[in-house]
Amino acid sequence: MAADCLFCKIVSGEIPANKVLSTDRVTVFRDISPQAPTHLLVIPNTHTPSVRETTDSALLADVFAGARDAADALGLSDYRLVVNNGAEAGQTVFHLHMHVLAGRPLDWPPG
Ligand code: 5GP
Ligand code: ZN
Repeated sequence: MAADCLFCKIVSGEIPANKVLSTDRVTVFRDISPQAPTHLLVIPNTHTPSVRETTDSALLADVFAGARDAADALGLSDYRLVVNNGAEAGQTVFHLHMHVLAGRPLDWPPG
């Protein structure tokens, strides 16, 4: 748990979130500002700021598996997984997270 980390507080329950999956490794919840009909965030329960700064590669595997399992649980077959790394790439919350986007056609390449 990192001090003043929004997503650590969601893991602990200090800040409420609409959780769709919670395991001992990951928490999956709905994005507060959805960019698609289904927009989930998958986070490791252990704090790590970003992909680049993650030394424990098992956490990266946990996040991928959490995204797959949450999508399966919601009956989603087609979805996009996005991880923003660094402010210039759009990262605003510095607790590693993967976006799961689904429910509408998704343009490629993205803007
Ligand atoms: P980033 O831009 O860092 O890749 O993604 C951060 C995401 O967190 C954004 O899509 C934003 O809407 C979402 N977010 C920010 N604050 C909250 C919050 O308090 N609750 C939830 N559920 N999502 C949040
Ligand atoms: Zn955190």
